[in-house]
Amino acid sequence: MALELLELLSQSTEKSLQKKGAADRFAGSAEVLERGPAVTRGAAPLPRIKLFDIEIDNVTLEQAVWVIRQRLDGDTPTQVSFVNADCVNIACRNPEYLQALQQSDLVFADGIGVRVAGQVLGQPVRDNVNGTDLLPLLAAALQGSGKRVYLLGGRPGVADGVARWLAKNYPGVKLVGWRHGYFSAEDEAQVIEDIRRCGADLVLVALGAPRQELWIRRTRSKLGAKVVMGVGGLLDFFSGRIPRAPRWIRKLGLEWCYRLYQEPQRLWRRYLVGNVLFLLRLAQIRLAR
Ligand code: UDP
Repeated sequence: MALELLELLSQSTEKSLQKKGAADRFAGSAEVLERGPAVTRGAAPLPRIKLFDIEIDNVTLEQAVWVIRQRLDGDTPTQVSFVNADCVNIACRNPEYLQALQQSDLVFADGIGVRVAGQVLGQPVRDNVNGTDLLPLLAAALQGSGKRVYLLGGRPGVADGVARWLAKNYPGVKLVGWRHGYFSAEDEAQVIEDIRRCGADLVLVALGAPRQELWIRRTRSKLGAKVVMGVGGLLDFFSGRIPRAPRWIRKLGLEWCYRLYQEPQRLWRRYLVGNVLFLLRLAQIRLAR
């Protein structure tokens, strides 16, 4: 009952999500399609854990960068997703999104909620692999590589700010294009064509979850890119539009509190209601064992 009420409350602003009842339906909620083999570094496959029916590549931040860099040299288009507590909540009521996560080629554990879940479910998460910590490392790894990067998403002007940040801090990164994320269905073909024409190898898509994961899944074969990553609000941070939490707050696992403090009206449902919902869901799974 508590779960149902919280579920209703947490999603009342997410009109686009299909609501099909409030029960936790991770088990058997969507067809679980096979992902490719676990990523390998040298001979040994890197470990995966399964939380909330989603297989997560349980790697460190550095390993994640290494794997993405490898994929940029490969032939298979790779969808990269990050999973945090809010993503789990959305996946619980949106089978299409759950499936997009399950079918992503690389899935990384983002944030304190997933870390706690890993502990409680006996599958410890190795590292907090979020896009915002990953981007500077990835940019450093791409310097001078000639790999072409494209940024899609954020409000008008935001991607321009990230382009300036990249040019200043990582001048050896080849940024070939960028575009804001407020485009209509009619403009979509043009957006895809623009990315294609730029010959982008890596595309960062910041349209928010679940839209970005669904968009990537639907369009990635047309983009011509090697790696397409759903990165949420990342462009807002690097453009300077939204300051990131100080390091000590991040270290305590409280970045979500800082985000809530910055945008309470938009985020109270996601964090206050959503976090309780996530913990109840976790408790339900733990007790069912
Ligand atoms: N956004 C966008 N187009 C849309 C909706 C959202 O480009 O139609 C952008 C928005 O400007 C923001 C990002 O998507 O930069 C989502 O941010 P949010 O903090 O919600 O993402 P999270 O990291 O929590 O998934």
